[in-house]
Amino acid sequence: MSNIDLTEQYKNFGISKKVLTFCNKILEELQDRFKDYDEIKEYNQLKVINAMQEARLSEAHFAPTTGYGYNDIGREALEKIYANVFNTEDALVRPQITCGTHALGIALAANLRPGDELLSISGKPYDTLEEVIGIRPAQGSLKEYGVSYSQVELKENGDFDKDAIKNAINDKTRVIAIQRSKGYMERKTLSPYDIGDIIHFVKDIKPEVIVMVDNCYGEFVNLKEPSDFGADMTVGSLIKNPGGGLAPVGGYIAGTKECVERCSYRLTTPGLGREVGPTLGVTKDMIMGLFMAPSVVNSALKGAVFAAAIYEKLGFKVVPAASEERFDIIQAIQFGNPEGLISFCQGIQAGAPVDSFVVPEPWAMPGYDSDVIMAAGTFVSGASIELSADGPLREPYTAYFQGGLTFEHAKLGIIMSLQKLVSKKIVTID
Ligand SMILES: *Cc1c(COP(=O)(O)O)cnc(C)c1O
Repeated sequence: MSNIDLTEQYKNFGISKKVLTFCNKILEELQDRFKDYDEIKEYNQLKVINAMQEARLSEAHFAPTTGYGYNDIGREALEKIYANVFNTEDALVRPQITCGTHALGIALAANLRPGDELLSISGKPYDTLEEVIGIRPAQGSLKEYGVSYSQVELKENGDFDKDAIKNAINDKTRVIAIQRSKGYMERKTLSPYDIGDIIHFVKDIKPEVIVMVDNCYGEFVNLKEPSDFGADMTVGSLIKNPGGGLAPVGGYIAGTKECVERCSYRLTTPGLGREVGPTLGVTKDMIMGLFMAPSVVNSALKGAVFAAAIYEKLGFKVVPAASEERFDIIQAIQFGNPEGLISFCQGIQAGAPVDSFVVPEPWAMPGYDSDVIMAAGTFVSGASIELSADGPLREPYTAYFQGGLTFEHAKLGIIMSLQKLVSKKIVTID
């Protein structure tokens, strides 16, 4: 494949020739898949640049604002660009939205009123939303405000259960939530195309229902987003895909004018809405991150497939399988025991540019109901668009692996993880 011998370079990281050769052989077999991802990258790159040109983006937009942040033209351009990229009427994109959970919490609380019901049609939502909704008791949950909740499981094969969804929609159903990515679950990730199909299905049953899609980890993986198919709100985190590794903080809500407006009043206050919110100098990084995002997501996708192919070959269950179509950047690898999960995460950490000398250990994280191990040697704290791996310490000890701002870094981290497992004799290669 290449004329340059990198054995010595990898040896600096403690990687044996045997492990490197094993991995490189697998990589050669993936080149056709990678070409397909490159085409998606190009499509999305053009989409993003087009949105920036249509917003007439210029240097003046990068100037910081402070205090109230009235008339922040950079913030307005950023939100216009997001709305264009996501093909929605409007968008709310700000550093005051602190993370994905916060963005989702705003979207829900802004659009539900006492007596309304929230219906999740993709099974149990992401762990941190359990307290937002009140599935696990928490102060200030939607439940405390008189919003009820019900849930329809996905079918055995991972598809939407249309009959059960039809039965679950009632007079009180106001918001329907769909989570694209698998999160910390063993299910498959939902494609934007299947999400589009189910949006039409639920709107046929109840046209006034609001559909919110948790799009975390899904942005720019495919040509289309859930918002292209009529989702009323598409929501995500800027320290994941759309921040491109450069956004230092933030979340987005892209959707209809009415829904986004309600979100603005929930984010700040009734009356003030979107008029306040200083950008404090982060606008350039948020916009430049979006510019980089199609490329970064492409690197992350290649890393995910590479990891899948390696661990599949070694006999582990991987979701999705190496050859499967992808709708997010997450790769689940089921280790079956804590040692495998912990060693894998420690290998990823050891390949990081930041905090490579730190050895991650399982700990109790706020918002999660079991101990979690996290490997993240990142420039932006906790950013999971950067190469990272995590997993809850519970059966079947699955590592959730994602990110990589460059494919070369993802490759190094994955090889480091394999070297750790080989050195500890958890796996053998020949
Ligand atoms: C990460 C994630 C969230 C929460 O985002 P944070 O930024 O960690 O708060 C919600 N849903 C899904 C599917 C996620 O992957």
